[in-house]
Amino acid sequence: MAGIIDGKALAQTVRAEVKTRAAAFAARTGREVGLDVVLVGEDPASEVYVRNKERAARKAGIAGRVHRLSADTSQHALLGLVRELNADDAIDGILVQLPLPRHLDDQTVVDAIDPAKDVDGLHPVNAGLLAVGRPGLRPCTPSGCMRMLDHVGFDPKGKRAIVIGRSTLVGKPIAMMLLERHATVTIAHSRTVALGEEVARADLVVAAVGRPRLIEGEWIKPGAVVIDVGINRLDDGSLAGDVAFEAARERASYITPVPGGVGPMTIAMLLSNAVTAAEARVPA
Ligand code: NAP
Repeated sequence: MAGIIDGKALAQTVRAEVKTRAAAFAARTGREVGLDVVLVGEDPASEVYVRNKERAARKAGIAGRVHRLSADTSQHALLGLVRELNADDAIDGILVQLPLPRHLDDQTVVDAIDPAKDVDGLHPVNAGLLAVGRPGLRPCTPSGCMRMLDHVGFDPKGKRAIVIGRSTLVGKPIAMMLLERHATVTIAHSRTVALGEEVARADLVVAAVGRPRLIEGEWIKPGAVVIDVGINRLDDGSLAGDVAFEAARERASYITPVPGGVGPMTIAMLLSNAVTAAEARVPA
């Protein structure tokens, strides 16, 4: 029976570290770390995420401001705000909550953020730095997954890893991070043939698809580590990951639950990125 990797508890540890670093930054510079979030429109899920980020930032001693813009905000106006935030020296991190309403272009807006303040790690400059193995701001969810692996003492070096999903947000960056740590990485996606056979070879399975229970428990190699990034709302209102948890748990050595696994790590890593950005912008 696999050990459960408790994302809530580990996120608390990360948040406590962030709080210490944020306090040291404030003592040294005379101002708090500044993290500004831009929310366009009234998508209820985005509203919940943003409120959680605001609360978590405050608890960590980070000055968080939320800019709430109406759903009909023009691209021109949004880009204007991003430029203003870029130019404000007291702001270390800028996060534009995605997805934006349909008339706005996510990528154009992300491209406008100063890469040094891109706490989501989605700017092409940061994606490029990750690809070439140089330091930069890295996407929060993949960073959270890596932290979970470190927490259970899983060293990716020489291990076979499979990442299912190739999004810019999760799949690709986590594959890059595993490669950087010397794993032999397979990236699977919707055109992958015989997914079960690919999964069965892996010492580490990272599922980032968004299909409930796509990954069957019987596919998991005995002793493998399973990180389930997927968050799926089922018809009965409950949440499920991409992995058939109960069956996978019988075979894995460690597994993340949904909810309470990768999810809580994401905001913790966002706060960590905000402090990292601040420290890099105002070096000691
Ligand atoms: P996405 O952009 O929709 O990407 C999904 C990926 O899954 C794509 O690469 C797609 O392949 C692949 N895929 C779809 N069907 C597949 C199948 N049958 N077999 C194999 N691969 C398949 O999603 P995302 O933004 O990466 O998010 C993935 C999941 O993680 C979602 O459930 C999301 O809610 C969750 N998530 C969680 C957190 C967190 O904090 N825990 C953060 C972000 C996302 P193609 O490229 O071929 O289309």
